[in-house]
Amino acid sequence: MVTRENTRVIQIGNRKIGGGNPVLIQSMTNTKTEDVNATIAQILSLEKAGCDIVRCTVPTPEAAEALGRIKEKIHIPLVADIHFNYRLAIAAMEHGADKIRINPGNIGGEGNIRAVIDKARERSIPIRVGVNSGSLEKELVEKYHGVTAEGLVESAVDKVRMIEAFDYDNLVVSIKSSDVLMCARAYELVAEQIDYPLHVGITEAGTVYSGNIKSAVGLGIILHQGLGDTVRVSLTGDPVNEIASAKLILKTLGLRSGGIEVVSCPTCGRTNIDLISLAGQVETMAADFEHLNIKVAVMGCVVNGPGEAKEADIGIAGGIKEGLLMKKGQVIRKVPEEELLNTLRYELEHWGE
Ligand code: SF4
Repeated sequence: MVTRENTRVIQIGNRKIGGGNPVLIQSMTNTKTEDVNATIAQILSLEKAGCDIVRCTVPTPEAAEALGRIKEKIHIPLVADIHFNYRLAIAAMEHGADKIRINPGNIGGEGNIRAVIDKARERSIPIRVGVNSGSLEKELVEKYHGVTAEGLVESAVDKVRMIEAFDYDNLVVSIKSSDVLMCARAYELVAEQIDYPLHVGITEAGTVYSGNIKSAVGLGIILHQGLGDTVRVSLTGDPVNEIASAKLILKTLGLRSGGIEVVSCPTCGRTNIDLISLAGQVETMAADFEHLNIKVAVMGCVVNGPGEAKEADIGIAGGIKEGLLMKKGQVIRKVPEEELLNTLRYELEHWGE
């Protein structure tokens, strides 16, 4: 199986993926791409949250033209998402797209595919070959008696070979399915046949709740096998929320470091401070300290709390309307409950001094 250490290296704008480069986080805008100001504003919010690569849909010539103006104001690679119209793929590349995502099966005949590849070659632009369980070819659905991982892989590999036949190999591959286990299986199978970097994600994963869980399970299985070079957590909602989820998945798998990891207890009958609210506030506050690489514990009581808090770089163990502040395993002081959050913020602001 080809894992991310031995996939090919592909350049997307100012970023490299594949060949053991760090797994990058991708998201997609949900503004009208033609609305340049709204799209720039959303991309800048995504950048601030930690997005590495952004994709915009290009359904019209106006959207393709907008890419040029959008690119002037953003700092991360811009991917154009194209369906059905090969001319839009060409226009998107002419207006500065750093990568295009197409399904070669839905942009017309060989002539259209050749025209897109010629433009990509001229500008050294990678093409992501995207296969989606919702649009698997009828013949493959019939051959495999339904939509299956094997069918999705055959479809993806066919398209890769089709582009290779035009002597182009600046490719990234994705296979998306909302069925988590089918999706994971498809990535395992495709990695046995090709060595292009893989973009992974669970498509149509759902709202923030189910999307996060399905993505964590699916990406967890796939990434833990060494597969995947870029990831997207698809959520029905503000795409900015996708970034924090993707970061936490990567950190949990040891694929990214940095930022504060907040651990907190589930609370129980021993809890005598408003820990649920405090833990939520600490997690929100942690986003302001992306430059730190530490663990913060927010624990409810003095029975298990101090032990857990000692494991962290800094922690709070709740008492009765007060808490113990622990740092590097030592109790620093007792703090009244209402001052716990600010005390913790002060300690983080002065971390390392
Ligand atoms: Fe309960 Fe204390 Fe454990 Fe929190 S740390 S769950 S309050 S025993």
